[in-house]
This record gives sequence, structure tokens and C-alpha cells, in this order.
Amino acid sequence: MRRGNLFILSAPSGAGKSSLIKALLEQHGQDGSLAVSVSHTTRQTRPGEENGVHYHFVAVEEFKALIAKEAFFEWAEVFGNFYGTSRLAVEEQLAKGIDVFLDIDWQGARQVREMMPDAIGIFILPPSRQELERRLIGRGQDSSDTIAHRMSEAVSEMSHYDEYQYLLVNDDFDDTLDKLRAVVLSARQRLASQQQAHSALLDALLAVK
Ligand code: GDP
Ligand code: ADP
Ligand code: 5GP
Repeated sequence: MRRGNLFILSAPSGAGKSSLIKALLEQHGQDGSLAVSVSHTTRQTRPGEENGVHYHFVAVEEFKALIAKEAFFEWAEVFGNFYGTSRLAVEEQLAKGIDVFLDIDWQGARQVREMMPDAIGIFILPPSRQELERRLIGRGQDSSDTIAHRMSEAVSEMSHYDEYQYLLVNDDFDDTLDKLRAVVLSARQRLASQQQAHSALLDALLAVK
């Protein structure tokens, strides 16, 4: 069976990563071929966020115990909180042939690339700094201190854009969503994936009579 593709999506906070992944899964994930990895985090839950859905919310001690158990595929400290991707969850989905999206920062992306050079990196940029700030404020879920902190970190996050293979500017949402979908589709047509998916067909077509 075909192994799933691993996608790494990074962007400064507020550029639209979570909304894009959510829309991609709603529109194109119905057949179960696409999933988003639910990270562990020590940050506070935002209004409307559900444990186990948006994140697994854990205390710092629990997070450190998971690091010690090597439960994380990657982990990093972002904006003063810990974030990590569960090794088991990602591995299980890839083994079932499901394409998995990681919504992680550039530090985590580096760790994943080291372990899985085939992972497909996508970086999302906002159309301007002003628009980024408008979206962070418009989301209405962070305090003004948190928003100021995230804006000040945005340039540093964005400076890593050239470590990714794909670069999308999220100006018009639906247009960006189409482009993201195109990246997923093209990844699925890569030789290694197709050889696994169509091994029986290839055998039949190439059989010597
Ligand atoms: P970030 O990626 O660094 O900002 O952090 P999160 O992934 O935790 O943030 C996503 C935020 O966007 C959450 O607060 C969601 O409630 C919100 N969100 C997710 N999907 C949508 C959507 O389709 N529309 C809107 N308006 N907000 C959304
Ligand atoms: P991230 O996950 O990167 O922090 P979000 O997906 O939470 O970003 O998006 C931040 C805010 O910007 C949300 O309120 C979202 O609805 C809005 N948003 C995302 N993409 C666009 C877009 N192309 N145009 C206008 N608003 C957008
Ligand atoms: P937020 O608190 O706004 O949900 O996320 C803040 C930042 O942490 C974002 O840049 C997001 O991509 C990153 N992040 C979320 N989950 C993980 C994770 O599991 N690992 C890493 N390295 N970064 C993560």
C-alpha cells in the first residue's frame, strides 16, 4: 500500500494556516485520505478550543515527561509555550496511506526534515504586515499583549520562508486554498507514491509475455 505524504505547513501566527487546513479537510478530506496532526501544547486553551480536537492541552510537567519518553516526533518552544507532534499518531496515519498535515513552526519543520527528507514543506505568507495584524486582532482570541508578542515574532518566523519548497501568499482565501489543494494533488503523483499505489498495474503492464 501507498505510504501517506507528510506535509509541513508553517507561517507567522495569523497568516491563515489553521483556517486553510480546516477548509482543505472539510472540502477534500471526506474520503479519509487527508488528516491534520493534533499537537500537544502547554499554552492556555482559547475560547472555543477543544481538548483533543485543536490540541492536546497538557501541563508543563506532563509535556516534559513525554519528551523523556521520546513520545514526540518533534517539539519546540514557541512564544514561551511548548508544542510537540506525537510520533505514534503521525506514524500510524502515514502507514495507513493517509496524507498528514503538520501545522508547526520553523524549528519543528527543521527537525522533521532531518528525519523525513521527503516531507513537503509549504510556507504561508500574509499579503502585508498590516493585514497580518488585522487578522490577529480580527480573530479575537488573543490578548493585546499576546498579539504584540506574535507580531514581533512574525518577521523572525517569516525569515525562514526559503527553507520550504512551496510558498503561498494568502491574499484571497479561496485562491490560496486552490493552490494548497494543487500542492497536495501534485505530491500524490510523485513517482515513489505512484509506484506504491499502482504496483499491481505496473506489474501487469510490464509483464513479459
Ligand atoms: P495559530 O495557527 O498560530 O494562530 O494558532 P491556532 O491554530 O491555534 O489558531 C487558529 C485559530 O483560528 C483558532 O482560534 C480558530 O478558532 C480560528 N479558526 C479556525 N478556523 C477558522 C475559520 O474557518 N474561520 C475563522 N474565522 N476562524 C477560524
Ligand atoms: P494561523 O493559524 O496561521 O494563526 P488563522 O487560520 O487563525 O491563522 O487565521 C487568522 C485569522 O485570519 C482568522 O480570523 C481567519 O479567519 C483570517 N483569515 C485567514 N485567511 C484569510 C484571508 N485570506 N483573508 C482574510 N482573512 C483571513
Ligand atoms: P498557536 O498557539 O497559535 O496555536 O500556535 C503557535 C505556533 O506554534 C504556530 O507557529 C504553530 O505552527 C506552532 N505549533 C503548533 N503545534 C506545533 C507542534 O506540534 N510543534 C511545533 N514545533 N510547533 C507547533
